[in-house]
Amino acid sequence: MRRSVVSFVGAGPGDPELITLKGLRRLREAEVVLHDRLIPTSLLDEVSSSATVIDVGKTPGRPCMGQGQINWLLVDWARRREHVVRLKGGDPAVFGRLSEEIEAVRSAGIAFEIIPGVTAATAAAARLGISLTERGSASTVVFATGTDQTGHRPSALDWDVLARAEGTLVFYMSVGALDSITASLTSLGRDPREPAILVEQAGVAGERVIAARLGEIAAEARAAAVKSPAVLITGPTVSTASVPLTVRRISSPVSV
Ligand code: SAH
Repeated sequence: MRRSVVSFVGAGPGDPELITLKGLRRLREAEVVLHDRLIPTSLLDEVSSSATVIDVGKTPGRPCMGQGQINWLLVDWARRREHVVRLKGGDPAVFGRLSEEIEAVRSAGIAFEIIPGVTAATAAAARLGISLTERGSASTVVFATGTDQTGHRPSALDWDVLARAEGTLVFYMSVGALDSITASLTSLGRDPREPAILVEQAGVAGERVIAARLGEIAAEARAAAVKSPAVLITGPTVSTASVPLTVRRISSPVSV
């Protein structure tokens, strides 16, 4: 009997060379590929010409496929084909609504596997030439979302804990909420002079880096009209980035 498998594959955050060998192999073998909007489009050249490729990407502010429809498509295609690849930006398990897709596949009795990818936080850190952890000063690294379903700063987050956390904070999906994120952190005790960096389009054409103090980075980002996708990284190791903190806008790409 045919046994369908859905492979959730991490495409990496933009640079097509950051996919894993295993992920690339699955992509080449796929009979169906359902992909996000934020994936390196040249990866689709790797897909067999006989495969069905469907863009299920969500574009902010535009009518698009809902999560329920994506879940339904995954199950529907997996019932008809053996190899379905669900290609997701970055790492599938980081802010990718993976649990909802797993739940849909699992409750339909379909086998699945997860092939990790490079997440935006580590890709951005690599572009900056920094470590996200450091013995003695950064024993924690937190990946947090900067917005919730309503598009605002998530109230479910424990901002007190984040403000006091020793180490590095990385905020995904934070561009629209930078003022409230940074104000929450600094009003609850995080040093407004802490070095912070926004990396827009890490590793892809159009990459920009905005470096400033935590207390000033929201205004700097506004002045530079930073757009999604971008990650905000703040913490002691950011000061070692290969960009001076006084520089507002660095020409792209960053040379590290
Ligand atoms: N699964 C993805 C994250 C999806 S949520 C991952 O592991 O990277 C989408 C958010 O990821 C964006 O709002 C942005 O914060 C971040 N992101 C994705 N690609 C990025 C890139 N090339 N540069 C900077 N941030 C990126």
